[in-house]
Amino acid sequence: MHTAHDREARRLDTLVELDILDTPRELAFDRLTSLCRKMFRVPMSTLTFIDGHRQWFKASDGLDLRETDRRPAPCNVTITLDEPLVVADMLRDARFADNMFVRGAPFVRFYAGAQLKLSGAVIGSLCAIDTRPRDDFGAEATSMLVDLAEIAVDELKLRNLSMQDALTGCSSRRAFRGEGERLTALATRHISPLSCAVLDVDHFKQVNDTYGHAVGDMVLGAVAAAARGALRGSDLIGRLGGEEFGILLPHTKLDQAMGVLEKVRAAVAATRIETPAGTIGVTCSLGGAMLSPGNCFDDMLRNADLAMYGAKQAGRNQALAWVDRAPSIAPTARRVFKAGTISFNAGHSTIDCTVRGLSRDTATIEVLSTSGIPDQFKLAIATDALSRACRITAKADNRIEVAFT
Ligand code: GH3
Ligand code: MG
Ligand code: MG
Repeated sequence: MHTAHDREARRLDTLVELDILDTPRELAFDRLTSLCRKMFRVPMSTLTFIDGHRQWFKASDGLDLRETDRRPAPCNVTITLDEPLVVADMLRDARFADNMFVRGAPFVRFYAGAQLKLSGAVIGSLCAIDTRPRDDFGAEATSMLVDLAEIAVDELKLRNLSMQDALTGCSSRRAFRGEGERLTALATRHISPLSCAVLDVDHFKQVNDTYGHAVGDMVLGAVAAAARGALRGSDLIGRLGGEEFGILLPHTKLDQAMGVLEKVRAAVAATRIETPAGTIGVTCSLGGAMLSPGNCFDDMLRNADLAMYGAKQAGRNQALAWVDRAPSIAPTARRVFKAGTISFNAGHSTIDCTVRGLSRDTATIEVLSTSGIPDQFKLAIATDALSRACRITAKADNRIEVAFT
């Protein structure tokens, strides 16, 4: 089953590169599902990405979900095919007749999905879904659906190429990484210090939930401006994702870097943001790390990220440095993105997961829900031929930290 593993790995690698999962709704993609619904006169349309353990909708029209379990998703079948999948009547198709989305809500009877193909991987699909069977979805409709899927892919490619983040004016994640790797090589060659930091806005979800997304966007712009104002001209700030920023501090040792980060923290906390919903203030948590001998850029960023999580745990609105000896932190943990399976009850119960972090002795995994998962279970990662007995060491929202036993 080599090819299935390759396909799985390629898809997840591409999704990491795109950094699209769990990002907010965007008009460019909402328009496509809306158009799809109108063009094909269907009640539902989704733009779906298949993660390790779930299907996640970047856009959906006529359906109030953001994600579901991966296994029953028709799109999970679509991504294994080369050509669009059109099923006139799900009840009459052996693959789907007993499907929970067919037998239960949203009672899918018709399904058409066109693959989202990028960098040699199929990462998801654009779908037209009906609650009635349809035998009128012919070759022309299918080719229009393929065109729409290609527009979605073009949009994804375009944003990935950009060097600057449109909302905040910071470097894009891509540009930040490129510069980080360049500076790491320079620092290694000239044995000069290099530090970096990860900044994450505190309780940002609350800002969005209370004031709406547009105000959230204004807050992000103001946070980026405040942080930039506290940095030197030679420092670089990039948007790593949603409300998370990376900072690069060339020729800077960790203790000096922490001084700068404290200035950034104070500047963000002191900022008053004028919005249509009134004046708002936010705080942020920062983690700093310095390049150690033998480390690559990713190692340093990962350490800064771990320190940032430490700052969150310590109460937020603070800057912490990464220290090797923190017992809860496994220094060699790598950020990964792999599909995994949790099993317990002597293998009778299995749950899909996505492994986000991995070290020799620990793993960080994400599931749709942690309820029903016992404290001890087996974790398997097919692409790595790994199977380990685990014990849960921490649990939050849909994330689980485990130690291998
Ligand atoms: P914590 O203090 O632990 O970081 O809490 P939090 O609420 O900031 O963390 P969480 O990661 O749960 O929430 C981040 C939120 O940021 C969720 C997401 O909807 C929102 N977000 C991500 N990108 C954007 C964006 O571009 N614009 C807006 N308005 N919101 C965004
Ligand atoms: Mg946050
Ligand atoms: Mg965050």
